[in-house]
Amino acid sequence: MAGRSGRRTHADRVLQHLRRQTKPLSAYQILEGLRGEGVNAATTVYRALEQLLSAGRVHRIESLNAWTVCCNPNHTETPVFEICEHCGGVTEHVDARLAESITALSNLSGFKPEHPVIEIRGRCGACRADSQTI
Ligand SMILES: [Zn+2]
Ligand SMILES: [Zn+2]
Repeated sequence: MAGRSGRRTHADRVLQHLRRQTKPLSAYQILEGLRGEGVNAATTVYRALEQLLSAGRVHRIESLNAWTVCCNPNHTETPVFEICEHCGGVTEHVDARLAESITALSNLSGFKPEHPVIEIRGRCGACRADSQTI
């Protein structure tokens, strides 16, 4: 995070760790990965994730109970995640028109979404291509 110069916060460590992954990680997987770097408590990881979530740097994939790095920080639209049930990979998409429709729906009912994410499960292009060659 934008901490004081040269000083890495736990949020920095969590973000960097997530960036090195090809799949979303649970908080406990993050904790396991960062034990060697002085992160020793689940509450530390959760606090860092909350900070990163508020800053728009990560997303929480509810159906996987896992966290992933935002592909395009600073977007305000609701992201759409394609979740491959075969390889566990996720792909983030942001579609302005879809996001507008969702906002319109929420405005109609006076609903205030908190960090909304749309999740679609299935099989990614790479896995589909693999299965077709067998
Ligand atoms: Zn995002
Ligand atoms: Zn896949």
